[in-house]
Amino acid sequence: MTWEERWHPLREEWVIVAAHRQDRPWNGQTVRPQPTEIPPYVADCYLCPSNTRISGKQNDHYSSTFIFDNDHPCVGADAPVDLLQPKGLYRNRPAQGIARVVCYSPLHNLSLAELQVCEIQNLLQVWQEQYVDLASRPGISHVLIFENNGEAVGVSNPHPHCQIYATNFVFKTIETESRVCEQYLHDTGRILFQDILTAERDDGRRIICENDSAIAFIPYFARYAYEVFLAPKQSHSSLAALANSELRDFAETLKCLLVRLDNLWRMPFPYVMALHQAPADGRDHSGFHFHIELHPPLRRPNLLKYLAGPEVGGGNFLSDTAPEEKAAELRTQSEVHYKTKTQLHETKGESRKTA
Ligand SMILES: [Zn+2]
Ligand SMILES: [Zn+2]
Repeated sequence: MTWEERWHPLREEWVIVAAHRQDRPWNGQTVRPQPTEIPPYVADCYLCPSNTRISGKQNDHYSSTFIFDNDHPCVGADAPVDLLQPKGLYRNRPAQGIARVVCYSPLHNLSLAELQVCEIQNLLQVWQEQYVDLASRPGISHVLIFENNGEAVGVSNPHPHCQIYATNFVFKTIETESRVCEQYLHDTGRILFQDILTAERDDGRRIICENDSAIAFIPYFARYAYEVFLAPKQSHSSLAALANSELRDFAETLKCLLVRLDNLWRMPFPYVMALHQAPADGRDHSGFHFHIELHPPLRRPNLLKYLAGPEVGGGNFLSDTAPEEKAAELRTQSEVHYKTKTQLHETKGESRKTA
């Protein structure tokens, strides 16, 4: 039984781990898995190749990745600049920035987990280029690359894609992480994330997969049941600084991780995935260690983790599961995607029939 509070060193907050509560009665809503039959092309999908989007712009007839400026940006050059000044202590400013969409594949029905390692590596290179391009623009302080995946996190279009918000401010989580990491470097002379990696390796129970230069684990202080961190072993402040061999290892580890998540319940595993990169605000961020955080909203098949009193009301997380147990579940999963296995099985069955 794990029942304790754990310190989250990157967010500087306590997480209540109360794993004995996970079998408590539940009469509420569950999430239906998506239907498995999705076609590779959908005529009214705004992301499929050559389709016309609602803005009237036409997608390229692309064959690998495709990038375009978001037609409904939350930050953009067109945001009003002549703002009415609020009264008293309130402040406002123009919602300046650049919002983009990156399609991973021309195929509507492929998820990131199903892409080949070389395709994932190609995508990582696209992310590198986008980061370098956007981070160098005047007025941009941060580049947030993220993917919302699955209906459970509000995405109804399965076409594999992510979004990029290049903003005139630094997102709160990254602002906290970068401040904490610089303070740690100043106080100890060490990189905080390296000490996390050392602690995870010393324990070993929460590591899901690793290779020469990349590692994936559910951290000791995880807030969500299947919250996975994926990081290069060398410290780099952003993805852009990874060498090609590191990118390959990183792509391999990401693939291995996503396949295991999908295999766990034999369903596309919903998640919010965010690249945590140092702010692009011109300051020194040598204490920052680039990593990806995956926040899957499910704690059991079809059962959502609701953010309620402790999380929304109080701001700290209550976790009903022990990271050690969840990591062990994922470690035992196959590295071959269940859909590939089914296809292999069907092909075998058919060849037997014809033979
Ligand atoms: Zn599509
Ligand atoms: Zn982080």
